[in-house]
Amino acid sequence: MMNIKLRKIKEWINCDIQEEYLDHVVQGTCIDSRKIEQSNLFIPFKGENVDGHRFVNQTLENGAGASFWQKDIPNPPKGPIIFVDNTLEALQELAKSYLKYVNPKVVAITGSNGKTTTKDMVECVLRESFKVKKTQGNYNNEIGCPLTILDLDEDTEVSILEMGMSGFGEIRELTLLAEPDIAIITNIGESHMQDLGSREGIAKAKFEITEGLNDDGLFIYDGDEPLLKSLESSINNAKVSVGINDDNDVMIKTNQSSSNGINFQLNNSNIIYHLNILGEHNVKNATYAIQVAKQFGVTEDVIQSTLDNLVLTDMRMQRIETNQYGLLINDAYNASPTSMKAAIDTLHIMEQDDKTLVLADVLELGDMSKDMHRQVGYYLEDKHIQTLITFGDEAAHISKIASAYIKNVYHFESKEEIADYLKTNLNDDSVTLFKGSRGMSLETIINSLI
Ligand code: ATP
Ligand code: MG
Repeated sequence: MMNIKLRKIKEWINCDIQEEYLDHVVQGTCIDSRKIEQSNLFIPFKGENVDGHRFVNQTLENGAGASFWQKDIPNPPKGPIIFVDNTLEALQELAKSYLKYVNPKVVAITGSNGKTTTKDMVECVLRESFKVKKTQGNYNNEIGCPLTILDLDEDTEVSILEMGMSGFGEIRELTLLAEPDIAIITNIGESHMQDLGSREGIAKAKFEITEGLNDDGLFIYDGDEPLLKSLESSINNAKVSVGINDDNDVMIKTNQSSSNGINFQLNNSNIIYHLNILGEHNVKNATYAIQVAKQFGVTEDVIQSTLDNLVLTDMRMQRIETNQYGLLINDAYNASPTSMKAAIDTLHIMEQDDKTLVLADVLELGDMSKDMHRQVGYYLEDKHIQTLITFGDEAAHISKIASAYIKNVYHFESKEEIADYLKTNLNDDSVTLFKGSRGMSLETIINSLI
């Protein structure tokens, strides 16, 4: 983490610091006064409900090394205060300077789905060869991204940054701050349709990530997405399109999917990669990571062996083997219509005979909600899934449509009923996949089974 004297901060950003504090050292940053650690730089925000400046005094008493203070707020306390015009902008400015100072290679990742997964995979394939730091959790916005940068160590060689957004201009701001060496767009889905108007809008907003890309930087993207194919020609950077369609620069061929994971090959090369998690979409995410590793000169051997040992953040296609109920696949971290279809494809290509799909609502789809859930229903045609269970008012639209294609369709009003049904009907050869929005917390059903 950042470990510097206030003198450096004075050199880097537009601020005022009293002379006597210039040799004070700060270590790391903190935005939550309850979590302050020794020597942290505290960053208060003037929020709508709570003004963080109220806690500055207290954080200094609790060991903070210094604190930002926005000049328009009256009555600053005495002590190691860094006076700035705007604390958020100062945080971003500081992150930008600190990033230049540490000077790692930067990999920036955006997309509607798969950012966190791809971030974990990129870290996985690089960490044997480089000192790597990645975004923690979902710290992917205008505050989280600079905080992630300030968490870099002076000897960090690669910084992996997840960039999220809910409207135009947000990714631009983040990419101009980070100036990535590699920018990745994992896919274009339907999230934030309300704010961005259309899938074209979403693609444009994600494509902003290329605006900060270094001139000799590389753009890696989902080449199966026509919207990205048509935007890509507008930049002069090196580019790699990744996908299953055969017009991609890197074409994925999946060989085999079993409960042990998936084998796949790229561009008909005879190298076989193995992933110990499921989901065709994860093969794509892994392929993005492989391209990053190759760009940084990691050898094939290392790429193969590190991918083999991949461990993902929980609830993303997490496989849980049970004796009584067979294989449970927890993909309940979150859901969008696109990722729900990806989950259906995963179950479709699995070799088990007894497949059950548990789906809950995809939330926040606004006016399109009913229609999008119905489309998921239609998507279930010919997917050879024996049992569909839905939960939630919106997911009910899925089961109404899908009852035409699936033998056993149930809509339950409570998760307890679902758990009871599964306990009675699953056996050690079954496979069951759980998918729904975060707010639906489908994992509680899994927890009651294991
Ligand atoms: P968030 O916006 O919540 O941060 P994220 O982009 O970080 O999401 P992940 O957490 O990696 O996404 O994955 C969320 C879900 O999206 C996964 O459970 C999976 O079902 C689906 N998913 C992952 N990668 C892809 C992909 N390349 N294409 C489509 N769906 C995907
Ligand atoms: Mg994420």
